[in-house]
Amino acid sequence: MAFEGLTGRLQDAFSGLRKKGKVTEADVKDVMREVRLALLEADVNYKVVRNFVKTVREKSLGEEVLGSLNGGQQVVKIVNDELTELMGGEQEKIIFADPGQGPTIYMMTGLQGAGKTTTAGKLANYLRKHENKKPMMVAADIYRPAAIDQLETLGRDLDIPVFSMGDQVSPVEIAEKGIQQAKDENRDVVIIDTAGRLHIDENLMNELEDVKAAVNPHEIFLVVDAMTGQDAVNVADSFNDRLSITSVILTKLDGDTRGGAALSIRSVTNKPIKFTGTGEKLEALEPFYPDRMANRILG
Ligand code: GDP
Repeated sequence: MAFEGLTGRLQDAFSGLRKKGKVTEADVKDVMREVRLALLEADVNYKVVRNFVKTVREKSLGEEVLGSLNGGQQVVKIVNDELTELMGGEQEKIIFADPGQGPTIYMMTGLQGAGKTTTAGKLANYLRKHENKKPMMVAADIYRPAAIDQLETLGRDLDIPVFSMGDQVSPVEIAEKGIQQAKDENRDVVIIDTAGRLHIDENLMNELEDVKAAVNPHEIFLVVDAMTGQDAVNVADSFNDRLSITSVILTKLDGDTRGGAALSIRSVTNKPIKFTGTGEKLEALEPFYPDRMANRILG
């Protein structure tokens, strides 16, 4: 289960505190030492941890908490609120083209293995089911031949059209022609699956910049694997620097991920997590709610 270690450690840290009426400065210090260690062990970015602990400590040492009859519970509430804030506060909605200005264009980006192609299918499925859209997918990852087949198979399974031109045409041309086809066929969302590599490199970024410039997407989703912790955060930071991504989709939250990526990405990149992947099935995509995630982490 995701966040198991973190949840356990936070519950231990708060177990005595929850019952406390009057809380002393020393109590707050002790508990925040434990919270700090728990977050670092969960692979949360150290700067994020430092700021988080500082904020919670300051708020917890305020007079209302120290003077109150249920100070312990108030400290736990402050931690809950600040965790929510750390992950973006409010849920952020996906962006669509203005009415009559469609189709909506999305670019899926990410490193190989993060779940990009699968997530393209999940997103198409989600938009059809929950947003009443008519999506189309575009196979613009021409370097991994299996990626085109994979997307076509997903399209068949979902009964959602996939535009492809093989692997001898440039991704820019595939993306442009795909959008034209979507217009001709009255599809209102175009999801472009772009190339992934094992590592970030200059060629990959140049290509993604070219596709972005050509299609002017409404959203650039960066798909990252929550299991990779700090690496996911670094990947998000690099993609954001070059591409100005608009949103993050965090996959594999069904695994035993420690929590570092979920808790650090927003604060490091200033870009919202909009969805989480919670399994290999095509239904396993959920909108991301920071408050629900904070509740889940606190257990
Ligand atoms: P890509 O290289 O980024 O396009 O990655 P793929 O879409 O091919 O996915 C890589 C692997 O991760 C596949 O086996 C997917 O089934 C799996 N995968 C993707 N998303 C999730 C998820 O949310 N949970 C789990 N458990 N597996 C996932």
